[in-house]
Amino acid sequence: MSEFSAAFSAAGLPQIDAHGQGRGCVITRRACFCSSHRYWLPELTADENDSRFGLCSKAPGHGHNYELIVSMAGILDSDGMVLNLSDVKHAIKSEVTSKLDFHFLNEVWPEFDLNQDSGCLPTTEALVRVIWHRLSSHLPIVALRLHESSGLWADYLGHGMDAYLTIRTHFAAAHRLARPELSQEENEAIYGKCARPHGHGHNYLLDVTVRGSIDARTGMVCDLAALQMLVENLIVEPFDHTFLNKDISHFVACVPTAENIALHISDCLSLPIQQIGAQLHKIRLQESPNNAAEVYAEVPQLAMQPAALEAVMSS
Ligand SMILES: [Zn+2]
Ligand SMILES: [Zn+2]
Repeated sequence: MSEFSAAFSAAGLPQIDAHGQGRGCVITRRACFCSSHRYWLPELTADENDSRFGLCSKAPGHGHNYELIVSMAGILDSDGMVLNLSDVKHAIKSEVTSKLDFHFLNEVWPEFDLNQDSGCLPTTEALVRVIWHRLSSHLPIVALRLHESSGLWADYLGHGMDAYLTIRTHFAAAHRLARPELSQEENEAIYGKCARPHGHGHNYLLDVTVRGSIDARTGMVCDLAALQMLVENLIVEPFDHTFLNKDISHFVACVPTAENIALHISDCLSLPIQQIGAQLHKIRLQESPNNAAEVYAEVPQLAMQPAALEAVMSS
């Protein structure tokens, strides 16, 4: 023990070994693969597959550039690492990317063999769950995120069939931050330039995260097309190209800060999302590259379920 660490212990502070050994940390690793898939259930007719899965049912399938983010937790070793990254890279490659890259997902793993009763469609949420089970005996995973595109990704935290699905969309709107009961001077003192009388605009980026149980056959936590339609019809269409303070009745009396817009979106979507079989988990509204508001619809406190992934999420 060095004099320095001996002094630390004597002072009653946690003793830190050389290179941080013994301390805890979460690390993330990103990996990409290109795969194709097709949503087609053999027990349905061609018309039923088409009406249920739309373009995703078309033969012979279509492809995505998938991006996988693996979060792992552990204790630092004597080299100052949770895990040696070359071991992490090797495990992800041998168990996941070498199996999936440039492959047809429906045929690659028995979990997606639809001729078996136990098979399910290779949706993003079903795929991230299967990846968890393939990787978890090799790596101390705490969270997985799988992006199918920049507008769709799934999170899995190892809890049975429970998964999170996020869709990203955007709208442009103007607003003015001012409380009608206050004078212009008082509003400018609070909101600064945002209180100027004729307003200003933003290109809002909206992430809607739902939580649900992955269906054993369709591989879906809810009907994706129905979710996209709800967000489009209830939020994007009415909000896009409006002056929020005047055009959206809720904001006539309620100041449309990013926080209040996120809360209102959450209130508008909670029940309709329940009606399509999922729970609204989170709304994230990004107003500019520098500020965003997040609302957790399921819990009153600010509990971030997929917390380990948020650092990479907004990149
Ligand atoms: Zn697809
Ligand atoms: Zn603004």
